[in-house]
Amino acid sequence: MQCTKCAEKAVYTGQGQNFCKNHFINYFENKVLRTITRFGLFAPDDQVCVATSGGKDSLSVLYMTMKYCREHHIAFFALAIDEGIAGYRDHTLDDLRLFCTQYDIKLEIVSFKDRFGDTLDNIREKGIEKNKKPCTVCGIFRRTLLNREAKRLGATKLATGHNLDDEAQSFLMNTLLGNMSHNASLGPITGLNQNDKFVPRVKPLYFISEKESRLFALLKGFKVEFNECPNIGLSFRATVRDEINAIESKLPGAKNGIVNAFLEILPELKEKYRAEKSRHTFQYCKRCGDACSGEICNACRLEEELCRKETVLRNSKE
Ligand code: SF4
Ligand SMILES: [Zn+2]
Ligand SMILES: [Zn+2]
Repeated sequence: MQCTKCAEKAVYTGQGQNFCKNHFINYFENKVLRTITRFGLFAPDDQVCVATSGGKDSLSVLYMTMKYCREHHIAFFALAIDEGIAGYRDHTLDDLRLFCTQYDIKLEIVSFKDRFGDTLDNIREKGIEKNKKPCTVCGIFRRTLLNREAKRLGATKLATGHNLDDEAQSFLMNTLLGNMSHNASLGPITGLNQNDKFVPRVKPLYFISEKESRLFALLKGFKVEFNECPNIGLSFRATVRDEINAIESKLPGAKNGIVNAFLEILPELKEKYRAEKSRHTFQYCKRCGDACSGEICNACRLEEELCRKETVLRNSKE
């Protein structure tokens, strides 16, 4: 098949067009840069922290943020969380270190072990997570650490590698679970109300599909492992992802359809839940001081659960 724009062989077909390597890279970069400007994701005085793991989406978002920020003289750096998933995260972090050295990007890595006392693998092995799935524990700790560390390092924005597939999945997951208020927090800029405890999260890859992100990483020659985390199959997200992929294969463009339909109702959702939230005064976690909805935040509740379980395990061995 030939590229729609030149005589070269096409490496990509989508959106009714075929692109060769160079035209695909142009198409990809323009789509990301348009998202950054359309939604005003970065401002001149921002200090941008890019949440990255060494996977394809995170290297693509790091590369594109670097490109935009260097051109617009905006400060940025990379932050990675090492959850402690043997045989997976250690490899992606090696890829990330190499990438950051190659492009001269400042990189900070913080681990669950240093900040919460143990690796995710050990937490699972000890059965500490009770009825919680590994992704629930991982998600709570990682979200908390990203925010805390970005804040500590002076960031004013946290750029994540969430793509079109992730957004379609999140919207459907929240909808299936009846959590419409959680949908109000999605979008290219997440969150509802500004709070100085939260670093606003932005998603430059918002309109980029998983397939496009994978191809971009491949064509740019980024050294990335295309392996998945061994825990992904246990998550609800994996079920929703497989269903959406099955629909997309029968109805190409379905993922775009879901996200564009969601964007149409997002302003109303934000307005409704922002008004509801602002009626409640913000509470701050008694243990760590982060903003939260109860007396203690989810991460601190989980940490306390881990400590209790450790004590039980220690006592049972004595
Ligand atoms: S798949 Fe689950 S356990 Fe693995 S990195 Fe993602 S959230 Fe964490
Ligand atoms: Zn071409
Ligand atoms: Zn807390």
